[in-house]
Amino acid sequence: PYGEPNEYFKRSDLRTTLADPSQLRSKPDVSEVQFGQVFSDHMLKVFYHKQLGGWQRPVIIPFENISLHPAAKVLHYAVELFEGMKAYRGVDGKIRIFRPDLNMKRMNASAKSSGLPTFDGDELIKCLNRLIQVDQEWVPHATGSSLYIRPTLIGIDGTLGVQQSESALLYTILCPVGNYFAGKAEDVSLMADPSYTRAWPGGCGDRKMGSNYGPTIRVQSQALLRGRQQVLWLYGPDHQLTEVGTMNIFMFYIDDNGDKVLATPPLNGLILPGVTRQSIIQLSQEWKEFRVEERSITMDNVLKLAKSERLLEMFGSGTAGVVTPISSLEYIDELLEIPTMYQSKPVYKRLKETLFAIQYGEIIHPWARLI
Ligand code: PMP
Repeated sequence: PYGEPNEYFKRSDLRTTLADPSQLRSKPDVSEVQFGQVFSDHMLKVFYHKQLGGWQRPVIIPFENISLHPAAKVLHYAVELFEGMKAYRGVDGKIRIFRPDLNMKRMNASAKSSGLPTFDGDELIKCLNRLIQVDQEWVPHATGSSLYIRPTLIGIDGTLGVQQSESALLYTILCPVGNYFAGKAEDVSLMADPSYTRAWPGGCGDRKMGSNYGPTIRVQSQALLRGRQQVLWLYGPDHQLTEVGTMNIFMFYIDDNGDKVLATPPLNGLILPGVTRQSIIQLSQEWKEFRVEERSITMDNVLKLAKSERLLEMFGSGTAGVVTPISSLEYIDELLEIPTMYQSKPVYKRLKETLFAIQYGEIIHPWARLI
């Protein structure tokens, strides 16, 4: 029903209303601010009303609360999806965003699965660039810090039927984030409990919909109670590894022939197609130093490799922490130590440093796009 290109909103229609100087908020010390607690001065908003011909004019306005009908679909049926990306202040002072085209592609896929209107991703990127420009002083200067960008799309019809929403609001808010690892250990321990499932075949695990995240909060608390930092999400009777917390998962090991392999589960519908995941696959394929495989990994594989000392590294990947090494994992009655932090030249570190260098403009690379 949606998607005639001439119905998409455009950057050329964007109007900006700047906050009054008296409305400007004070910027926090980014080394102390916790993720998602402090927001910048402005936001982007675009309404969609089917009755009014679809997408309306995009606007940048001072940050404000949104007002919704109490029956709004988002509030009852979680008709909601979002994205997560970052703007980085480079070593040259220029601001870049990392592969935003992939976030736009994923956001449109999530919109389709939610029955919400799709849009022209390039036009949203241009609107986001303008928003970041308006709030450019919110892109922190400290090393390792960034401005987190949260595009969100919600169904706002004020009717209770479980039906497609004919109106929607796309908005974007920004928050400064400090160095993810400052002052804490880089590596994490995991709880792998096969009694919990994050996603299933025919479901929406590969979409960034709010409804995938709410039900994970209780399980994450369970992991913390057991003294583990993150959940390793397993699937199926053979306990396939799918994701870790809100990250994709990688395993670096030595195969039966003595060859080194970097493996990550395939995009089989249960896994979010991470931008970092794809970048790690592409970078390591370019290096041509070891085999790179998208393949199913079971807990049995992990245990066998670990016991024969051929498991070298495990790590998670995502926008928040880029690459996060895994040092142990609790599985049923076992606590498995993963030697990720004991490698002399770990692959995780090299990947992380390369991605950082691209994001902060130390390496000029087409993935990092100037705003
Ligand atoms: N898996 C899940 C469930 C996530 O929420 C995220 C974060 N978007 C990722 C993986 C990593 O994706 P990305 O590299 O695009 O941040």
